[in-house]
Amino acid sequence: MSKSLLLIPGPVPVADTVLAAMARPMIDHRGPVFKSVLERISARLKPIFGTSSDVLILGGSGTGGLEAAVSSLFSPGDRVLSCPIGVFGARLADIARRWGLEVEILETPWGEALDPARLAARLREDTGERRFKGVLLTHNETSTGVQNRMDELATAIGDHPASVVVDAVSGLAASPFAMDAWRFDVVVTASQKALAVPPGLAMVAVSSRAWERMEQAKGPSYYFDLRKARDFATLGQTPWTPPVSVAFALDVALAEYEAIGAEAAWRRHAQYAEAIRAAIGAIGLTPFSHERGHSPTVVAIRVPEGIEAAAVQRRMREEYGVVISGGQKELKGKIFRIGTMGAVSPADLIGALGVFELALAQEGYRPGIGGGVTAALQTLQYSPAVAAATAA
Ligand SMILES: *Cc1c(COP(=O)(O)O)cnc(C)c1O
Repeated sequence: MSKSLLLIPGPVPVADTVLAAMARPMIDHRGPVFKSVLERISARLKPIFGTSSDVLILGGSGTGGLEAAVSSLFSPGDRVLSCPIGVFGARLADIARRWGLEVEILETPWGEALDPARLAARLREDTGERRFKGVLLTHNETSTGVQNRMDELATAIGDHPASVVVDAVSGLAASPFAMDAWRFDVVVTASQKALAVPPGLAMVAVSSRAWERMEQAKGPSYYFDLRKARDFATLGQTPWTPPVSVAFALDVALAEYEAIGAEAAWRRHAQYAEAIRAAIGAIGLTPFSHERGHSPTVVAIRVPEGIEAAAVQRRMREEYGVVISGGQKELKGKIFRIGTMGAVSPADLIGALGVFELALAQEGYRPGIGGGVTAALQTLQYSPAVAAATAA
């Protein structure tokens, strides 16, 4: 089987050095070597989350990390304000309902970012006996290609006492994040997104305020009980057997991330996303995300009239070995999604965009075909917008 190019928003292409770490022999997960692996991983994740709190490592995918957050922090009957902007935000609300929370939804039309003014207004009205115990936010909504402005949302929450839980699974490490400065309580990410490691680990950062609140929480979680995870983390262990090989891979990936530097990683993701948007613009297509909410890690593209999305994707995969995503749930057939995360070279990206144009043309789409690659090349050379967005 020849290798195909994976441009979906997770799992993502993994560097050979990181993959090679997965082939190491097994070790005792309660021994000294694994202890040092876990401690290194946690230390290197702190600046990525923007926190001085410990970062817990859990076996599981991102959803497991989110369930850990909700089930450990809240009690059945607690009221929470959930602010979904797409499929993954809706999933987080679902998890909260399953754990017996009373969930109010602050609706946002898909394709848009959460409006900080609306969040502020809703929280201002939240007075009296049964105030919200939690606010559930999405950093980067993978289903719509939208990234929220977390600094503005943090300001909107202000000094409302709710614990703030953030799904940062497809955003963290690809753009600046300041958990402590923004006073977020539990922030979750996973290995198979911007950290560019195979799937299998969730990473959860917890504020000291959240630890205090968890002492009172009555949710009956077991496998994903964060208090258990914290107790074992102090010993350099996880409560249950973790995916040791994925931890080896994450250890190597974080060393490489640190060597390259966070700014370079932010710049690369922003630049790739902008190159994709330039390419689709040149062939008359439009992003699904609104102007102020473009995600750096996944670009959602409206499927043009008369074109069948699945047929384009099939051609790309079967004839050219390039894998992109379609839409989820009600966006099925309406959008394509191209991810920028992982070990993707500029040549990979340009090639994939060329293949996208080719497959569209084969399916009968004509406007501007060939112009996308040119526009993307120009963007990768120099982009004032990216320079401004990533200036320190
Ligand atoms: C990928 C992703 C998740 C987690 O999905 P898993 O399949 O459980 O890892 C959660 N939220 C967002 C925004 C994601 O992109």
